[in-house]
Amino acid sequence: MKIINIAIDGPSGAGKSSLAKKVAKTLGYIYVDTGALYRSIGYYVRNKGISLEEVNKTIDLLPEIKLDLCYDNGVQKVMLNGEDVSSYIRTPDISMYASAVSAIPEVRTFLLDIQRNIAKTKSVVMDGRDIATVVLPDADVKIYLTADPKKRAERRYEELIGKGVETTLEEVYNDMTLRDKNDSTREVAPAIKAEDAILLDNTLFTEEDTLKRAIEIINEQVK
Ligand code: C5P
Repeated sequence: MKIINIAIDGPSGAGKSSLAKKVAKTLGYIYVDTGALYRSIGYYVRNKGISLEEVNKTIDLLPEIKLDLCYDNGVQKVMLNGEDVSSYIRTPDISMYASAVSAIPEVRTFLLDIQRNIAKTKSVVMDGRDIATVVLPDADVKIYLTADPKKRAERRYEELIGKGVETTLEEVYNDMTLRDKNDSTREVAPAIKAEDAILLDNTLFTEEDTLKRAIEIINEQVK
């Protein structure tokens, strides 16, 4: 069977992971959340007592880090040195660490093979920031998912509150816009739309509308 790779990129809070999970389920593909890899490195670095200002020390730590993605009933788990850290890496603090370590070229190179190797052997729906531009430039389908920043902040706020994280809408908005700015202006693999990616703005869409449109795009692109 032909291996199909679908790349979904876009800024934080656009709903990439919800969409990618549903597309993967609909098509029977593997969902790969690449943000979890950057978050795991951020988590490791923070636990070493390194501050956000000195994340360049991360490079020295890379040889001690072993990351694996595994799947339990289609749900991705990220293993950091053998420990499942999936439930510890979703906090706002770790989001900022992930964004900071993601600007380090050595970190991006370190994670490249892990991402590419999965896509080589399996049909995947991979979400991230540089999937269409760097990780899988030959992906069969490239979607750039975005929405109005206020709408994205509201969605992320609801998600965090639902998980019991204490925060405010203003804090979420400020963190999100700062992270988007860092991600889109970094020198290596900036988070930008690939020229050949299809723009999907879901500001006015429900999750169902977004899935429907994404499936239409996939059907148009994969013949
Ligand atoms: O998607 P998520 O919010 O989990 O990503 C966390 C951070 O990891 C992003 O803000 C970004 O800095 C980084 N990231 C990246 N490239 C990817 C995926 C995530 O730089 N492919």
